[in-house]
Parts: sequence; C-alpha cells; structure tokens
Amino acid sequence: MIDIVDKKDCTGCWACANICHKSCITMKTDKDGFDYPIVNESICIKCKKCINICPILHKQEIQNNPVAYACFNKDEEIRKESSSGGIFTLLAINIIEDNGVVFGARFNDLFEVEHNYVESVEDIKVFRGSKYVQSKIGYTFTEVKKFLEDGRKVLFSGTPCQVGGLKSFLGKEYENLICTDIICHGVPSPLAWDKYKNEISNGKKINNISFRDKTYGWKDYSFRMDFEDGTRYFEKGSENKYIRGFIGDIYLRNSCYQCKFKNLHRESDLTLADFWGIENINKNMDDGKGTSFIIVNSERGNQVLNNIQEKIEIKEVSLENTIKYNISAIQSSYNNPRRKYFFKNIFKLKFDKLVDNSLKEDFMIRLKTKVKKIVKS
Ligand SMILES: Cc1cc2nc3c(=O)[nH]c(=O)nc-3n(C[C@H](O)[C@H](O)[C@H](O)COP(=O)(O)OP(=O)(O)OC[C@H]3O[C@@H](n4cnc5c(N)ncnc54)[C@H](O)[C@@H]3O)c2cc1C
Repeated sequence: MIDIVDKKDCTGCWACANICHKSCITMKTDKDGFDYPIVNESICIKCKKCINICPILHKQEIQNNPVAYACFNKDEEIRKESSSGGIFTLLAINIIEDNGVVFGARFNDLFEVEHNYVESVEDIKVFRGSKYVQSKIGYTFTEVKKFLEDGRKVLFSGTPCQVGGLKSFLGKEYENLICTDIICHGVPSPLAWDKYKNEISNGKKINNISFRDKTYGWKDYSFRMDFEDGTRYFEKGSENKYIRGFIGDIYLRNSCYQCKFKNLHRESDLTLADFWGIENINKNMDDGKGTSFIIVNSERGNQVLNNIQEKIEIKEVSLENTIKYNISAIQSSYNNPRRKYFFKNIFKLKFDKLVDNSLKEDFMIRLKTKVKKIVKS
C-alpha cells in the first residue's frame, strides 16, 4: 500500500485514490492545505495497485523530438480573457466540435479550484485563465477513462504532474486522448488561497476572479476580484501580495521544490505556456496582448495544432533559445526556507503582513549567504 514518507514524493495527483477498487484510500488535507493519501489498513487487500501506478515511483521516460512555436489566437476577445495567447480555448473547441469532452481546472461556487469536465463550447469559458492554486483532481481520472472507453474524444488539461498521474492511472495509450500540460512554476496552497480570498472579499459575495487581467497588458498583468455589489478589487500583479508570494515560492506544494516533471520530453501531446522573452525572439509575434509558447511533444499534438491552423498566427522558434526566458520548464522552484515561517504563522497574521515578513526575511537569508560567500572567497 502507498505510504508517503517524504512529502516531496507526492504531487497530490489522486491516481492512487482513483485506482483503489476497495475505496480504502482517502485524500486528507494536511496543515499546509495540500492533499495526501491515507490508507485504511483494515480494508486494504495489499494488491499494490496504488504503488504500481504512482507516477513518482514509476516515472515514464519519454523519447521524442519536441518542436516549439510562438502563436496566438486571432480572436481578440478570447485572447483578452486568456492568460497567454488563448490557444487552450481553440483546442477545446476543436475537441468538443468532434463530440468530445474537455477536462480542466475551474472555480467552484466557493472560488476553490477543482478539476471538472465540460461538453459544450459555451461552457469552455469556465476553464479559461490560469488559476494559481493547486486544483483538486478528485475522481476525474475515473471519469476520463469512462469517456475514453465509450469512444469519446477527451482533451485533458492540467499540470505536468496531473497529466503524469492520468497516464499512469490509464496504464495504456488511448487513440482518442489528447493531453495538454503547462510550463508550471509550481502550485500554491489552497489554504493560502482561501485565506487571501477571504481577507480580500471580507464577507462580500464574489462574482469573478482573474489572476491575469490584461487591462495594462499581458506582460504587466493585474489581479482582479469582482463582487456582486458591483465593486472590484484590482491591483497590478507586481504589487499584489498573493502573486508576490506565489512567485516568491513561499507557499508551493513540497513536491514543486524538487519537481520530477521538469523536462523537455513530456508525457503530454502539447505544452502551453507564456512566451516570456518573445520581444527577443520574434518581434512580429509580440503585440503586448499575449503570445503563447507551445511545445509539440507528439504526432497527435501536431495533428490537433494543424486542426486550428486557420484560427491562429504561428511561427516556429528555437526551443533552446526560448527556454532560457522560461526556466520553469526545466528547473524546480527555489526551496524557500521561509515557507515554514509562512505556514507556522498562517492563522496568526494578516495575509499581507505574512507575505511581507516571509519575503523580507528570505531576502535577508539570501543576503547573509552571499556575504558569507564573499567573505570566504
Ligand atoms: C499554477 C500555474 C503555474 C504556471 N506557471 C507558468 C510558468 O512558470 N511559465 C509559463 O510560461 N506559464 C505558466 N503557466 C501557464 C500559463 O499561465 C497559461 O495557463 C498557459 O500559457 C495557457 O494559456 P492560454 O492563453 O492558452 O489559455 P488559458 O485559457 O489562459 O488557460 C487555461 C488552461 O489552464 C489550465 N489551468 C488553469 N488553472 C490551472 C490549475 N490551477 N491547474 C492546472 N491547470 C490549470 C486550464 O485547465 C486550461 O487548460 C502556469 C499556469 C498555472 C495554472
């Protein structure tokens, strides 16, 4: 049976909970807000299925020739609502118009982030836009399998570890499955998000949230929370405490600091990301409204991208040159020693103060280390 000894060895993909036919694995939320499997030993029959499908214990090695592109959706409205170049929406429309099903991360009624599926073009909008919180996968892998075995096309979108979990759970290739992942900085704690969301909304009913509002442009994105009473909380991303804490690596999942899925040979068919550095790679593809960086990882990915060719602007780019502007593709987040401080004080301090203290102290630690190094040399 699965036994998580070191938290960095569990991405919280729920594959073990999905595979257990005896339903003896429950995902329990830890004190930092992340889910981990707990086995009810009294009903476990020791079949080892949970161990055999764990994507960390049995990591797939992929051999392929990835090809990179800069591209964006020609539909200005969709691109504005999307975090990068709005490519995800086009892929999703393509699958649904072929009687398929699309899985992705959405907000529920409480503005928590969870995985779910949609079957109509109208509903794709619930997945649009990056939500910087670890999404709860739940039993979606089981649902994916059912749709695939019914012969439906399925587009599954998620983080690289979620795609890894799904592929392990399925255990075989399905012709009718397309997977897209993202270049992932790391996933923030649902507990940290809950605290931030509650402090900002302060009892007001939330109507909508965008982590990547493009009012001041794609590169200078803002955080926005709209309330039912018509008011709005709006702040530039560079000043917003939640975004700063996320980028500052103080409340990511433990596994993100030693991510086993940082790789250019991926299990997904397509990787979607922001094309940071586009101004240095291809100025014609940079109009400030959002450019996607796409890596085609498989022939199936290539076919799906071909299906949307007429609706996008696209240019092939060098993968090597582009990766240096988006190092999260291959490098784990900084294992910030102030993470402990953040979670130790999460119920004691206001969110803004907590992030300020965490980031300030972190800077001091880095400075001290630097000074020590200089003195030593
Ligand atoms: C936690 C996180 C970290 C990221 N880190 C980076 C990074 O370091 N560098 C980079 O270039 N890009 C990163 N991205 C990806 C980027 O922000 C865009 O999501 C991506 O480029 C797709 O943009 P789009 O315009 O095509 O579609 P959009 O409509 O903006 O994206 C929607 C897609 O994102 C998925 N999604 C949204 N939130 C989540 C979530 N919490 N978990 C899983 N999937 C989610 C949806 O299911 C859907 O597939 C990150 C995204 C997330 C969610």
